[in-house]
Amino acid sequence: MGMNETETRTRTIGREIFARIDRSGPTPLTKAWLDDRLMGVGTHDPALKVQLFRFVDTLPYLKTTDEITRHLAEYLREAERDLPWWVRAGLKVMPRGGPLGGLLAFAARTGARQMARRFIAGSDVPEVTAAVRRLRAQRMAFTIDLLGEATITEAEADHVQKQYHDLLAGLTHEAVGWSDDPVIDHDDRGPVPRVNVSVKLSALYSQFDPIDPDGTSRAVLNRLRPILRAAKAGGAFVNFDMEQHAFKDVTLRIFKDVLTEPDFHDWPHVGIAMQAYLTDTAADLDALMRWARDERKCRVTVRLVKGAYWDYETVIAAQNDWPVPVFTRKWQSDASFERATEFLLDHSDWLVPAFGSHNVRSMAHAMAAAEARGLDPRRYEFQMLYGMADPLRDAVRSLGYRVRVYTPYGQLLPGMAYLVRRLLENSSNDSFLRASFADGAAEDELLQDPADGRREPTGSGSNTSGEFHMPVAAHQPAHAGRSPFRNEPPTDFSREESRKAMRDALAAVRTQLGRTYPAVVGGQSLPVVKTIDRANPSRTPELVGRTAAASVADANAAVAAALAAFDAWRDTPIADRAALLLRVADQFRRRRFELAAWIVLETGKPWREADADVAEAIDFCTFYAAEAVKLHSPHHRDVAGEDNVTFYEPRGVAVVIAPWNFPLAILTGMTAAAVVTGNPAVMKPAEQSGVVAAKLMECFAAAGAPPGVVNFLPGDGEEIGPTLVNHPDVAVIAFTGSLKVGLIIHEQAARTPVGHGFVKRVIAEMGGKNAVIVDADADLDEAVKGVADSAFGYAGQKCSAGSRAIVLDGIYDQFLARLVEATRSMTVAPADQPGASLGPVIDAEARDRIRAAIERGETEARLAYEADLGPLADQGTFVGPTIFADVPETAWVAQEEIFGPVLSVIRAKNLDDAIRIANGTKYALTGGVFSRSPEHIAAVKRRFRVGNLYVNRKCTGALVDRQPFGGFKLSGIGSKAGGPDYLLQFVLPRTVTENQLRRGFAPETGTVE
Ligand SMILES: Cc1cc2nc3c(=O)[nH]c(=O)nc-3n(C[C@H](O)[C@H](O)[C@H](O)COP(=O)(O)OP(=O)(O)OC[C@H]3O[C@@H](n4cnc5c(N)ncnc54)[C@H](O)[C@@H]3O)c2cc1C
Repeated sequence: MGMNETETRTRTIGREIFARIDRSGPTPLTKAWLDDRLMGVGTHDPALKVQLFRFVDTLPYLKTTDEITRHLAEYLREAERDLPWWVRAGLKVMPRGGPLGGLLAFAARTGARQMARRFIAGSDVPEVTAAVRRLRAQRMAFTIDLLGEATITEAEADHVQKQYHDLLAGLTHEAVGWSDDPVIDHDDRGPVPRVNVSVKLSALYSQFDPIDPDGTSRAVLNRLRPILRAAKAGGAFVNFDMEQHAFKDVTLRIFKDVLTEPDFHDWPHVGIAMQAYLTDTAADLDALMRWARDERKCRVTVRLVKGAYWDYETVIAAQNDWPVPVFTRKWQSDASFERATEFLLDHSDWLVPAFGSHNVRSMAHAMAAAEARGLDPRRYEFQMLYGMADPLRDAVRSLGYRVRVYTPYGQLLPGMAYLVRRLLENSSNDSFLRASFADGAAEDELLQDPADGRREPTGSGSNTSGEFHMPVAAHQPAHAGRSPFRNEPPTDFSREESRKAMRDALAAVRTQLGRTYPAVVGGQSLPVVKTIDRANPSRTPELVGRTAAASVADANAAVAAALAAFDAWRDTPIADRAALLLRVADQFRRRRFELAAWIVLETGKPWREADADVAEAIDFCTFYAAEAVKLHSPHHRDVAGEDNVTFYEPRGVAVVIAPWNFPLAILTGMTAAAVVTGNPAVMKPAEQSGVVAAKLMECFAAAGAPPGVVNFLPGDGEEIGPTLVNHPDVAVIAFTGSLKVGLIIHEQAARTPVGHGFVKRVIAEMGGKNAVIVDADADLDEAVKGVADSAFGYAGQKCSAGSRAIVLDGIYDQFLARLVEATRSMTVAPADQPGASLGPVIDAEARDRIRAAIERGETEARLAYEADLGPLADQGTFVGPTIFADVPETAWVAQEEIFGPVLSVIRAKNLDDAIRIANGTKYALTGGVFSRSPEHIAAVKRRFRVGNLYVNRKCTGALVDRQPFGGFKLSGIGSKAGGPDYLLQFVLPRTVTENQLRRGFAPETGTVE
């Protein structure tokens, strides 16, 4: 049979399937059924749909009638514009409490529970066993999936493992009594296991992270092997589910590794899901087939699906400016599914096909293509989701095929995420089910060859040609014209080439350790008299390098060199000054992994954060280059006979005093801002990050910075700091660091001696004692992870770190218990190890100071968790993550910046109380809130006064331009770094007015530009 015959046959089979389904009756997923339900209302109103699904997602967390009715009203109000008039009217009189409110809450709960029951087969082993018994009675095979919340603690991973054991034990015991069914219990090779379970690998390890495939694989396998052994012994089948794209390679690796082990290499009853919406699926399938055939020499099953994470993948790619890993048009995924179908059918000796789809065209094509190859229909099977399209399932079964139903079970609470995914899938514009059942599309249209979608004019009304809409922020168009700036994409460490580049860079940098870096003044290296040693804080015996310890004379020389360069640099065209920054950014890009490796070794930053530091340094250069060009276009305001122009000019010599915690980014940012606006700079890096600073100096030199425009002055702050700050020729001081030093600088710089020609400008970013509010309805998976990341990322050594968690009474105990376990599960390790969740603190002095702070905290609050460091304690300057609970809001640990991995958890009575406590420090830098109440979120946005507020995400990791960074109160006196007004601080405005009227005669006025 040729291609066309397969196509003809596909349509014939498709029509046959449709003939067996009643598309109009009151069966689930018909229009009537959908319209009856929330889901039906939402299907045609995207805004309302989002709000209703959010409500359903939150519902299990809501305990009282008042909470339920309040949330329902809030969510509906968010979508008010799209509501039918009668719902809008009802909203106004909606009861909060009382019997009517109680009734409403009851109806909402019952409705959601009913919906959940449609897709979730039961909440425990006996219930799910009863469900599979019912399925078998309908002559359906099954695979059981265990629903769970995100595994963020090792205790949870242990629990998942135990549940799989219980499930396997319960089912295999039960299965013995089942009578044999020739269709579902046999394929063309013989009996197939009756018990079949599906496993998500990320549920088996709380720190599952593709940046560390070795560590992840080891931990997953420790929990997976016993499950596989039990399954094999009990004659069950195990399928590996596929999750997001970032997890794919490590999932495939674990699958291949474990199934070539002696215990499992000849076991055919294993399978893996492969997603046809990924552009790399064809290559992955080919590699998998070769592995099964040539290495393992034993078949495995492939469950071919299109993929369940399409929205997530496109959003993540857009946010990070990464290539989109999925096809972006629906027909492409459908066509890819068909190509993969044919590949599996061609290699079914090694890859046993299981087609997971509810798309009649996709299934009919598989049947026709198998026929064309003369394959026994028992060679492959169809798989569908429990409750998704029962009539379809019955139709395929009635054609004599083996149908397996993917049957999830679990508690309602963790099950909600699954339920919402199914609701979204059913109501998506691109869904085949929606097109067939709710929208009643014509059969011919539904059955057309997906490859024809290419020729389909857009907007033809076809639901199967699927337009791709890249998710964009609602406000995008308003900003689109403002800035052509794009953030430098972070490195995607789920890719092996990125990990290899980082490993290679670390190895290369390790061959260059121990060098000495001189001060560079006026383009010349100064002789090194004294030095500062810098040890790797992860492994203190390792000397990273030495920088010169500049003297007071060196400091004076640096200021003199900068001053000497000032006039020429001021008069250099802005385009040339901006071009210098772009060349520096190019240097960073070229040396990206090398610079990140230096950061890892010198400052103990884990890989991802070291990489982000380099990316941010690139951003500062490219952003300030573009902003400076804008700033320096003169402002004309001419009238008849009078020309007026306002423009900016640099202030003079800038001293840049930078911290070690963003060793490249902050030093680059402040220096780049000074230099691009025409101020020659003297860079004084922190003693703890002088080597990275020396690398920055190399980049400026390689980019062609004229002598004296950028000077590098490493040294002891106490020794040369006062010289720089008090120097009469210094016009601007840009400082980032502690409050204490910031205030001293501010005070010293404010003194303007008699005879001194100008007032100094100080730009200071100082500390923070940032709070994250956790509302009673917060998504705990997100809140626990968000708080832990905010508090312990880079061992809490960020001014943006969230060091206070203010938790509402209703969720306090639950939150704290999970937070402690999640923190216990984090990996404290040397920063050069990719699996490190957190590395060391910067040096011994910091370690001792943080330890003293912890001791002081113990006198004020309950120590809920302190990590045991074991041998690490002697290897480097480590402090484990530490949590204080029940902390009084005014306690010292809750008020003072500790700059280490120490978190205070504070109980709040209600939201007002939480906001009051959050605002109750001398700082106002960053803050966060986790809440699912639109009104609470609005209140926090209005009343929690900080420079950078983050809603439902961690409170660290600001990006240039996207989140201009900086705070007020005692957190800072300047305006935001990486924002549109930052450069203004480095310049002085001048206005020139010229009278053009001579003897009553003036040229025509008009702006020159
Ligand atoms: C038994 C079973 C097991 C499953 N296991 C997994 C699993 O392990 N991992 C997993 O990820 N999913 C899994 N799924 C879910 C599955 O991915 C979705 O149910 C499936 O994608 C829906 O496809 P369909 O053929 O039923 O419907 P269709 O309506 O034909 O296809 C919908 C799918 O098309 C794709 N799509 C939608 N819009 C676009 C667009 N604009 N551009 C490109 N592609 C688009 C998406 O993948 C979407 O889900 C499983 C499904 C079943 C039935």
